[in-house]
Amino acid sequence: MNSAEIIEKERKYIMQSYGRQKIVIVEGKGAVVKDINGREYIDCVAGIAVNGVGHCHPLVVKAICEQAKRLIHTSNLYYTEPQVELAAKLTELTGMSKVFFCNSGAESVEAALKLAFKITGKRKFVAAKGGFHGRTLGALSVTHSKRGIFEPLLLKTVDFVPYGDALALRNAIDEDTAAVILEPIQGEGGVVVPPEGYLREVREICDEKGVIFILDEIQTGFGRTGKWFCKEHEGVQPDILTVAKALGGGFPIGAMLSLDAEFQRGEHASTFGGNPLACAAALAALNAIESENLVQRAAELGSYFLSRAKKELETLPAVKEVRGRGLMLGVELSECCEGCESVVERACERGVLLNCTAGRVIRLVPPLVIQKSQLDTAFSVLKEILEEMSKNCKDFHGKNGENGENSGN
Ligand SMILES: *Cc1c(COP(=O)(O)O)cnc(C)c1O
Repeated sequence: MNSAEIIEKERKYIMQSYGRQKIVIVEGKGAVVKDINGREYIDCVAGIAVNGVGHCHPLVVKAICEQAKRLIHTSNLYYTEPQVELAAKLTELTGMSKVFFCNSGAESVEAALKLAFKITGKRKFVAAKGGFHGRTLGALSVTHSKRGIFEPLLLKTVDFVPYGDALALRNAIDEDTAAVILEPIQGEGGVVVPPEGYLREVREICDEKGVIFILDEIQTGFGRTGKWFCKEHEGVQPDILTVAKALGGGFPIGAMLSLDAEFQRGEHASTFGGNPLACAAALAALNAIESENLVQRAAELGSYFLSRAKKELETLPAVKEVRGRGLMLGVELSECCEGCESVVERACERGVLLNCTAGRVIRLVPPLVIQKSQLDTAFSVLKEILEEMSKNCKDFHGKNGENGENSGN
């Protein structure tokens, strides 16, 4: 099939719930993917922060191939070595004590909510405006956006408080509150970094009020923000931690970790959860992150990009703000721009994959293995597009379209 045939077939047979760039991707290596016509793209999306170790990392490919030849699946009615090895590794990396394996982010959030029910016997949750925790009905109940026609949702007692405001969060907690659920940096919400000390304050409030603190590191985990987990920036330990996305090096796997509570026999289950193939892939991905020093790399490349972007992009009329941590970066467009979908399209035409989230924020979450030269190319393409867009933004927000300097108004 050629590109047009594949796109047509998708429209005919697949529910049209996704907006896609019109390219058919056939292979990938490191931070580069190739489409069906042989055209290459620098991938600053990484499967939405999934391909942390890059596309088809040799260690991950090898682990999958070897494991696939021996044993792909057996269910949790039996023991397998990759599963226990991965569990031990995850507890070591996170400082948590027990793991429940599943297959996706939403599923790990479901497990977290269910565990919080179990521990507290309560049903109320506090979550953040702009927060995102997944699309299944429980996870969507604690997600602020994307609710639309699905209201009212399963959990009706969820209070949404402004993200980054510890006082509002404290005030929202009452006797019926089971847990607080938050991302350490909001991903889908537009790469929103909370004020320093926020997570520590939330931890203290949860301790004081006796509620569970669920931290959703599904997007921020595994080196993305320049630490293994974003919580380390503040030295905070949640009661429950959810992870997925980059854990499997591209292979689907999720996990819910807890500090001291756990499910008993029969209380929770997942047929595929922690299957040997997924666990072997994840072990290899973690191994790659460690042996290639990718956490440090994310910190360095991220601060390099951010400081360049502050100087060269934030000064453009089309750009409202640049922010992020490590290789989780957001470029928010000014109100004079229509939205960021057109930036994504234009970048794709110029060989760079970007993602648009929260309507106005260009999100860059490239593989942590991206080369500096590739990041520079992506930066140049983005800058060129934002400069073009700035021409429509003259005099907007007091920024001068000619010299790109902020006049301070
Ligand atoms: C992506 C994401 C999820 C949902 O993960 P899925 O694997 O798509 O179900 C939940 N929380 C956060 C913070 C995410 O970024």
